[in-house]
Amino acid sequence: MATVSSDQLRDRKERLETALARTPGTPQLGRLLEEVDAALARVAAGTFGLCEVCRDPVEPERLLADPLLRFCLDHLTEQEQRDLERDLQTAARIQRGLLPPPDLSANGWDVHYHWEPASLVSGDWCDVVPRDGGDLFFMFGDVSGKGVAAAILMSHLHATFRALVAAESTVAQLVERANRLFRESTLSPYFATLVCGRAGADGVVEVCNAGHCPPFVLGADGVRTVDPTGLPVGTFYSTRYGARTLTLAAGDSLVLYTDGLTEARDRSDAEYGTQRLARTLARTHGLAPRDVVGTCLEDLAAHMAGAPKRDDLTVMAIRRTR
Ligand SMILES: [Zn+2]
Repeated sequence: MATVSSDQLRDRKERLETALARTPGTPQLGRLLEEVDAALARVAAGTFGLCEVCRDPVEPERLLADPLLRFCLDHLTEQEQRDLERDLQTAARIQRGLLPPPDLSANGWDVHYHWEPASLVSGDWCDVVPRDGGDLFFMFGDVSGKGVAAAILMSHLHATFRALVAAESTVAQLVERANRLFRESTLSPYFATLVCGRAGADGVVEVCNAGHCPPFVLGADGVRTVDPTGLPVGTFYSTRYGARTLTLAAGDSLVLYTDGLTEARDRSDAEYGTQRLARTLARTHGLAPRDVVGTCLEDLAAHMAGAPKRDDLTVMAIRRTR
């Protein structure tokens, strides 16, 4: 669990004092300094991070973003709740803006995905980047946890992969570097499972699976899975990643999904499961990506029969067209 240390608070106090010395007579800085002092006093008294109304711990990821918080989500003032709601809506818009277009055709491949957060924002992420050389890179993942902290890490991964995809030659090297950068800049309890792939115009697909739900390959002779080739990103600083090479014929597809699909539970607590997904996908060979994804979602809805969704859900299909 992530925690804020009193060192961080003291560091903040020092910086505020320096800023105040440079710009005396700034009332906001003075007030902020008082709040930091009050937080340090709470550390000394052993009440730091506890809600002043209910005495329960304030949500750790919120406290990490703002160590001066004094109330849990249940005990915000009405104004604070309205501000939070507005911030979340903005975050949701920004996050949707990071996603690729839902339908994309490039370099002999058609792609479609469905991205559905459990609340306003999601820890799921997908991206598709056609490169000039004729390759199509795709990235697909799930950051541990849900909500705002997961969403921030999701946008961090998005930026990392976008920056690396132009430079790296193999998907395994790409994931290795992304893992180091993620590990350097992220607190240890967080990790991400992801699949990174490169689809060539010749039908050869290189897939690195960092601890993610095994994607399905839909061929004329049935479905098979692409098992993990390494640990989730963020597990250890130095981790080697391997990759598998698949060859897809025209009409074959690769289907990626997050556990929001396979671990969805109906009202009797029965999981949708990978076996049912495999049976459903076996009926979709040759279909357009939008119809493959649509078939999965329809079958999931039939299983759920109106039960509430509890997790972020993303499904993506990539079909070789020629
Ligand atoms: Zn409270």
